[in-house]
Amino acid sequence: MPKPYELTAVEAAHMIRSQELKAEEYIASTLDRVRRVDEKIHAFVTLTREEGLNRAREIDEKARKKERLGRLAGVAIAVKDNMCTRGIRTTCSSRMLEIYVPPYDATVIRKLYDEDAIIIGKTNMDEFAMGTTTETSYFGVTHNPWNLRKVPGGSSGGSAASVTAEESTVALGSDTGGSIRCPASYCSTIGLKPTYGLVSRYGLISYANSLEQIGPLTKNVHDCALLLSVISGRDFMDSTSLDLPPKDYEASLKDDVRGLRIGLPREFFGEGVEDEVKKAVWKAVDLFESLGAVYEKVSLPSMNYALAAYYVVAMSEASSNLARYDGLRYGYRDERDEGDWSTVYAKDRRIGFGMEVRRRIILGTYALSAGYYDQYYLKALRVRTIIRRDFEKVLKDFDVLVGPTMPLLPFDIGEKISDPLTLYMCDILTVPANLTGYPAISLPAGFVDGLPLGLQITGKPFDEGTILRAAYAFEQNTDYHERRPNIE
Ligand code: GLN
Repeated sequence: MPKPYELTAVEAAHMIRSQELKAEEYIASTLDRVRRVDEKIHAFVTLTREEGLNRAREIDEKARKKERLGRLAGVAIAVKDNMCTRGIRTTCSSRMLEIYVPPYDATVIRKLYDEDAIIIGKTNMDEFAMGTTTETSYFGVTHNPWNLRKVPGGSSGGSAASVTAEESTVALGSDTGGSIRCPASYCSTIGLKPTYGLVSRYGLISYANSLEQIGPLTKNVHDCALLLSVISGRDFMDSTSLDLPPKDYEASLKDDVRGLRIGLPREFFGEGVEDEVKKAVWKAVDLFESLGAVYEKVSLPSMNYALAAYYVVAMSEASSNLARYDGLRYGYRDERDEGDWSTVYAKDRRIGFGMEVRRRIILGTYALSAGYYDQYYLKALRVRTIIRRDFEKVLKDFDVLVGPTMPLLPFDIGEKISDPLTLYMCDILTVPANLTGYPAISLPAGFVDGLPLGLQITGKPFDEGTILRAAYAFEQNTDYHERRPNIE
């Protein structure tokens, strides 16, 4: 018998609904696991033990009275600390929001509660989601459960690590340029960035709003499909969320990829991608072929410009989105500050924001300023359109594109953080999905010297179903997702 904290979301919800397992026992077991391992991992910024246990008792009571229980009945979920949770501190891992307690819930949080999920805590992240390693957090780094010296990936590093270390059953992350898929790859979880517009961003604290989506981090594809079914859908509070009929993504889970047409973009196997990573992806492609899929090499020439375009767009939007942290409406404020408004504004922002955030605000402001706007921002938008066209064209002939998620295996904490450009390069394979808005998933696809690596599958807009079907078939025929690190 697995211990309660080892269950998947599908299993836990089923057992709680049928009263085979008490939600209280399961949540206590999960929180106990956190108590034992989080000193080493540091996945959480805030834990909500009491609230979690209280909700669990309420759910047990409902089960006892045979009241209807939701699709996530009792499921322990960890939420990245950039999604607003009413009454629960939401910091973005920044000193700027160290004591911020939102007066409202993000739409995704409301949807989780509607299905009887239990939030057990808020997870560590790169400050304001800016980073690839979770090292820019004001609250300190999260460690990779597979090797504590290594980064867990970022920026949703706490969410992914919490799932891998079984400190939570599932987690939510946000992905602006890879922040769900990168830590999924580095921690060996499933991580899905939905199509732009599928999941409401209302209550997600913005970094670069034209690029980002909230999505699931889970132990297996079934949990991912379940969580996506819960969080997706039209929301009147987010004008960019699309009006599409609700979908049950669990129905897509078929172990059948016969005839699936896979495109392999040359650019995903280029220079800078480690050989071991390429090898693992080829092995995955062979597996798909043996299951009846067909593949062909394709080319996305504009990929060469994706990283540059991404960083110009992301930083420009960040500079505008983060202007609101002025110490008056939001954010850190030293009450003893004196002087005129701009002196106080500058000082509080210097103290409230970390290095990386300030760097991006300054670069973004530069890119948007008169005289440079055409040269940088407008150009980046044009490149973005060209990239989208390239993807559109290739995906006319193929169902999905397959490649690695990250070009490199997880590296040491501290190894790259002082060299931002090298770090930005690590995002080369994940940013295209954000620039185009297309959905993409990362799946556990192998281990090299005990370190995991992920396979990325990109699909057509709003065709998460096909991505999930391919992912499910891959999972059914491999065992990488079943391996667990030895932490205790
Ligand atoms: N690593 C990328 C960045 O630093 C992506 C971050 C994200 O997706 N939030 O911008």
